[in-house]
Amino acid sequence: MSIVIVGGGLAGASAVEELRGQGYDGDLVLLGAEPYLPYHRPPLSKDVLLGDKEPDATDVHDQGWYDEHSVDVHTGTAVTAIDRDRRVVVTGSGEVGYDTLLLATGSEPRRLDVDGADVAYLRTRDDARALRARLLERPRLLIVGAGWIGLEAAAAARAAGCQVTVVEPQSQPLLGVMGERVGRMFADLHREHGVDLRLGTSFDGVPPVPADLVLVAVGAVPRVDLAREAGLAVANGVLVDATLRTSDPAVLAAGDIAAHDHPRLGRIRVEHWDNAIEQGKVAARNLLGADEAYERTPYFFTDQYDLGMEYFGHVPSEHLDDVVVRGDLDGRRAVVFWHRGGRVLGGMHVNEWDAADELRELVGQTVDPAQLVRRTT
Ligand code: FAD
Repeated sequence: MSIVIVGGGLAGASAVEELRGQGYDGDLVLLGAEPYLPYHRPPLSKDVLLGDKEPDATDVHDQGWYDEHSVDVHTGTAVTAIDRDRRVVVTGSGEVGYDTLLLATGSEPRRLDVDGADVAYLRTRDDARALRARLLERPRLLIVGAGWIGLEAAAAARAAGCQVTVVEPQSQPLLGVMGERVGRMFADLHREHGVDLRLGTSFDGVPPVPADLVLVAVGAVPRVDLAREAGLAVANGVLVDATLRTSDPAVLAAGDIAAHDHPRLGRIRVEHWDNAIEQGKVAARNLLGADEAYERTPYFFTDQYDLGMEYFGHVPSEHLDDVVVRGDLDGRRAVVFWHRGGRVLGGMHVNEWDAADELRELVGQTVDPAQLVRRTT
């Protein structure tokens, strides 16, 4: 039996670990395009940009672990095609046969044309290393996009003493995931720390302020070309059923690329660290013949300045303003719930770390909103 994993990111690494943990002792090949072993990306826009962690210090496992677990890892090896009839994947140095295959090719930054300034993106270890070096030169930094990566980078750039402008077309940062009220809290946070945050401002390719460096942080797109060219069903991600199987049952997909048919939430594609780890595990068990649905509630975290936040759930856009707050959101110690007629769709805490277990438990339950405000954690 031979299992091949395409994509040396977190989902791929998690699957490998679970396969060996489940006692699978057949051939196991991990093919990754980057010149590095799989690593964690969240620190890249936080500790690494702040200079608190070396870019190379975020590996999931070192080479010794892969050797000990007989995992045949090939870094710097992009898969260029999948021949599903012959069950082989094609790389620059030859073909690798599989019985079952996991696609975990992740996502990449959406790109924009920019005039008159250096342009940066933040996805890889090399991007983070280069951006950190630039921040130390204290450039006038323009960040396009007030999403998670843009905001985290803004916080790091302010810590490095840069002049930072952020442009965002929406009326608040993170509007599409957090809604107006919580978005406003993030806007206040950044303005208090000296960021020139320009909301309702579309970027047309020309920096609206003098800028030495433009960080484009306008979201990511799933890397689905390989899957599409192999004839798999694709639509904003590789379409997978509840068990993470693609339209070809011998091929599974996990992590950022998986447009998953979640048993409770419907079709969703989640670009989060926890999702990559946990889908990697379920995919691994299903590669071995199990038939387990992936049912986990999405989870996300961020750190910006002295704000730490964890978020659980998935809130459709029409309910983003159905918010109940316990505590002091403006003072940035609070627990927030999004609900639909009392059914909790999502919840987050801001600097209230003890609330995490309660939030995970409450998402999906129906609770009187007045009680959500009162309940003590
Ligand atoms: P990826 O990590 O993108 O890995 C996919 C790998 O596959 C890449 O190395 C790629 O080069 C490789 N690949 C692609 N095509 C091929 C091919 N044809 N052949 C071989 N290899 C290929 N999430 C959170 O929950 N909290 C956070 O705070 C957070 N912070 C983040 C900060 C940054 C800067 C970034 C970029 C992401 C952050 N995320 C965060 C998101 C999280 O890191 C991703 O959801 C996660 O990395 C997805 O893992 P993945 O394995 O699906 O994809």
